[in-house]
Amino acid sequence: MAALPTQPTIYDLSRGDIAAYLEGMPGYRVDQLWQGLYTDGVAVEDISTLPVKLRSELAEKLPPALAMELESISDRGDTVKWLWNLRGGAAIETVLMHYKDRSTVCISSQAGCAMACGFCATGQAGFDRHLTVGEIVEQVIRARRVAGDKRVSNIVFMGMGEPMANFDAVWESVERLHGDFGISARHLTISTVGLLPGIRLLAEAPLPVNLAVSLHAANDDLRNEMVPINKRYPIGDLLDACHEYFDKKGRRVSFEWALIDGVNDRDSDAHELAKLTHPLRAHVNLIPLNPTPGYLTQGTPPARVREFADLLTSLGVNATVRKNRGTDIDAACGQLRANSIAAEAAVTGSSGNTADSDGTVTNIKPPTTRSQR
Ligand code: SAH
Repeated sequence: MAALPTQPTIYDLSRGDIAAYLEGMPGYRVDQLWQGLYTDGVAVEDISTLPVKLRSELAEKLPPALAMELESISDRGDTVKWLWNLRGGAAIETVLMHYKDRSTVCISSQAGCAMACGFCATGQAGFDRHLTVGEIVEQVIRARRVAGDKRVSNIVFMGMGEPMANFDAVWESVERLHGDFGISARHLTISTVGLLPGIRLLAEAPLPVNLAVSLHAANDDLRNEMVPINKRYPIGDLLDACHEYFDKKGRRVSFEWALIDGVNDRDSDAHELAKLTHPLRAHVNLIPLNPTPGYLTQGTPPARVREFADLLTSLGVNATVRKNRGTDIDAACGQLRANSIAAEAAVTGSSGNTADSDGTVTNIKPPTTRSQR
């Protein structure tokens, strides 16, 4: 397990922390620094309103959290994935996706994940460590720098990790991204495997963010197999917590359903799913399973995906099929697994190559991948 960084990074500090740090200086310096960090989103060295000496001192004492190891580009530039090295040794991934009407950043909340869902690459690689507030927030800032004129409007906690298992840091990040970065609560989505205590905390928290629940199965027998934490928080209790969230926040919960051939794509699955989600007027996001190294079962074929979606619609469920983004650069749902990529890169001497257990090296990256520190 990697250690947490011993030194705070620049986005770890709250505005109050910054004020304390700059104590003795004129008060407007706090505003200038905060504006540079959040409104302009530039590196400390580039905050031209601050004296040069202060900039270099800040850069040394409060460094950035993320060092770019790899940038991968797909969908003709509409999907960009970064592999970042963190201070203290861990690695994570972030994905930026441009659509016609919006740009979304998919961020990680932990390095690795302890939830062990077998079909998810992050789960297959295991847990490394929680991320700090600075490491979470900086992912969005760095993505915005690249997005430029294509304004970042939506943030989803759907990268590596289980946000509800790192609730405090995630919540502080949400407040920062809402209040200081300027993303509205309805454009912020937290996705969870179904950790009830976290859903309940979120229901009590002041901002009405979107809650997404990775359901994938509508009965406990199947969900116990697919999502091991279901044994602790079974479907009945999970759905109760979702009803509570809907009642308290007035925001419809959405459910994610990775469609797996012959596993959870039968008519009976659609009927069970409809029964659970209909009373909540929930939205169901169908995601044809993306390939991962440790799970051999295939995704549902496209024709059956359509049938399954149509069946749900005929049962009164608001269901959509999520368009897959960045599968060629392993940037799609469930494909993020930075730790193993970084470890494999160390073995093969080059990022983006994987060494199979028999030593075969396969290049899994397209030629548009470039490496930059
Ligand atoms: N731990 C949180 C955040 C991860 S979000 C959660 O479980 O919600 C990533 C989403 O992709 C989750 O819905 C996850 O279940 C889904 N997913 C995981 N592996 C996948 C795969 N191979 N194909 C499609 N979706 C997958």
